[in-house]
Amino acid sequence: MNLSGKVAFVTGASRGIGRNIALELTKAGASVALNYIKDDLAAEEALEEIKALGGYGILIKGDVSSYSTCKNAIDEVVKSFGKIDILVNNAGISMLGFFADADEEMWNRVIDTNLKSVINCSHAALNYMLQKKSGSIINISSIWGNVGASYEVIYSASKGAVNSFTKALAKEIAPSGIRVNAIAPGVINTDMNKFLSQEEKEQLINQIPMMQFGEGEDIGKLAAFLSSDDSKYITGQVITVDGGML
Ligand code: NAP
Repeated sequence: MNLSGKVAFVTGASRGIGRNIALELTKAGASVALNYIKDDLAAEEALEEIKALGGYGILIKGDVSSYSTCKNAIDEVVKSFGKIDILVNNAGISMLGFFADADEEMWNRVIDTNLKSVINCSHAALNYMLQKKSGSIINISSIWGNVGASYEVIYSASKGAVNSFTKALAKEIAPSGIRVNAIAPGVINTDMNKFLSQEEKEQLINQIPMMQFGEGEDIGKLAAFLSSDDSKYITGQVITVDGGML
């Protein structure tokens, strides 16, 4: 996978899966702009890791649930690097609980962070990608977007919509030379799952044929492949990475 000379914008890249995606894109030769919302220390650490790999990156703080934030961020990427080739819509939050106990504030937050952010950043990036007639957009979905999860109803709905958005946009912009794919991770070892007790972790592991959680780099390596010309005939796909769970 050769991403030399390519420029990527990764949302939610300070920690977890997004940081690993940024690192794998760096290893393949891309320059990377890392977005995050609040954890300055983690973002600085991620940037240091990129520099330690000999890569080049910048930090762009902001809430991607706002369209103007996404537009300004992508304008900044183009101002700094001259273009944008790769957009990875990774930022996301999960909220657990019975749907009947949820409130409007909660479902607005989940839908705005997980779905509206994908629409926001894709729209803003297409402004540039359409001019160049090339680009790769990768949306980080979830296996729960494919099959739905009890206790994560709004989260599942947000990710299911990301899957449909991916397939529809891929069809619309394939003639313009831009590819759109999604990755649907299973259970990945990140802060998003750190609330789980040891017992809950063991119960989950027993549902995974490979008997372990995935790591961020398992998603990062696929994102690098989908960003590269090695996947030039792949578009509109939702690719599951879950150790055989589903
Ligand atoms: P994580 O460790 O909790 O990290 C979340 C990242 O998103 C952080 O960088 C955070 O920034 C950023 N973020 C959150 N809200 C944001 C906003 N409104 N604007 C900009 N950045 C925002 O999460 P993760 O586990 O890596 O998950 C990454 C993606 O993978 C999500 O879309 C998630 O739904 C998906 N996923 C995860 C799993 C899993 O098991 N972990 C499974 C399936 C899918 P700060 O550091 O500044 O807070």
